[in-house]
Amino acid sequence: MSAKESYNKIFELMKSHHDWFANSIPLIASENIPSTAVREAIVSDFGNRYAEGWPGERVYAGCTFIDQVEIICNELARKVFNAEFADCRATSGVVANLAIYSGFTLPGETMIATSIPNGGHISHGKKEHFGTAGHVCGLNIEFFPFSKEEMTIDVDLTKKKILDLINNGKSPKMGMFGGSLFLFPHPVKELVDFMHDHKMFINYDGAHVAGLIAGGEFQDPLGEGVDSMTMSSHKTLWGPQGGIILSLERYAETIKKSIFPGNTSSHHLHHVAGKAIALAEVLEFGKDYAKQVIKNAKKLAESLAGYGFTVLGEKRGYTQSHQIAVDVSKYNDGGTIEKDLEKSNIILNRQLLPGDIQAGRHYMHPSGIRIGANEVTRLGMKESEMIEIANFIKRVVIDKEDTNNIKRDVTEFKKQYQKLKYVFDGQLEAYKYISLVQV
Ligand SMILES: *Cc1c(COP(=O)(O)O)cnc(C)c1O
Repeated sequence: MSAKESYNKIFELMKSHHDWFANSIPLIASENIPSTAVREAIVSDFGNRYAEGWPGERVYAGCTFIDQVEIICNELARKVFNAEFADCRATSGVVANLAIYSGFTLPGETMIATSIPNGGHISHGKKEHFGTAGHVCGLNIEFFPFSKEEMTIDVDLTKKKILDLINNGKSPKMGMFGGSLFLFPHPVKELVDFMHDHKMFINYDGAHVAGLIAGGEFQDPLGEGVDSMTMSSHKTLWGPQGGIILSLERYAETIKKSIFPGNTSSHHLHHVAGKAIALAEVLEFGKDYAKQVIKNAKKLAESLAGYGFTVLGEKRGYTQSHQIAVDVSKYNDGGTIEKDLEKSNIILNRQLLPGDIQAGRHYMHPSGIRIGANEVTRLGMKESEMIEIANFIKRVVIDKEDTNNIKRDVTEFKKQYQKLKYVFDGQLEAYKYISLVQV
């Protein structure tokens, strides 16, 4: 391809992507659709500037307006999450975690976190898996004992494990709550005092559930006593891709330095503006949104279970978050099912489930799929639409109907859901491709 052909091709591919998503059911639990307002921030000149440091103490000139936006962003984050301190400069959830690891641990120290099949994130992982905590920060990783039945961390076994580690000279310095497969709140209030008594720093990784916490519909980690909370700004929070850190005031100076110069130089100012806009939207509409997301996730879980699907967490009503996890191994492996659903314009992820590694399963072919109700809820869908979505999934996975038929029906269904809800006025269609140049 010539340069101009490549150039043209890129626009063509981006437009095809927009058309595909406009015609699809987006169920990836770690994604959301930002408002047109957030998208406007992303194309602004903020994205071309530097502002190293803290507002008012910048290393760069030209920050007059950038500083004011960043101050508003941090104020909104403190207000939305009822936090003493907020820093919105982390360029992603992983960078937010890096800032916490590097600010409050030393290489060789031990962190206790959730393993990946039990819902942990690769940024909490061991060196041998190139997990960020082990690979970049040299932490030794131990895992929380986990109950598959309850789909959460086991409190008594965790206390015992921490005492055993202390007795073996491997005292954990950091406790990391939160995860990527996250159906039920973690037992933070049950464990914080014990962990603090044993001199641990406690972070809660709210990457997935931040929007639910913001809406007051999930646990409140800071209220329950953690020292800091990290998050992504684009999962159940509906901002641009990025990260945010919250903490008690007494950790503010360490976190500020840990972000800059420790872990960022440019902190993607267009995304800071986008985070500020998203947080303002959350302050106004976040409660209603979070409530509906959880209702939708429950309804989708119940509808799938009604078709015979094995939905995890049955004992506890399947979910208290935006996510549901389904063991699909009686039909096929999660990887194959993900592909069949994708061909039908239903976009979700395969998922390692608790027990998969022991059973010799691999992340390419795990036993599960993970479904998020976050993006479809932003498009205005409610419980009745969840019943329809469950039926589409059943037609693909159980009936093994021709994916072309289902794709046609999904496209027809999706026509009614092209506008975002929970937004201030003046929005374009959710998946509208915004053209700035003539190609
Ligand atoms: C997604 C996720 C992250 C990483 O966030 P990015 O913004 O993609 O860097 C960190 N922790 C958890 C638990 C996650 O699910």
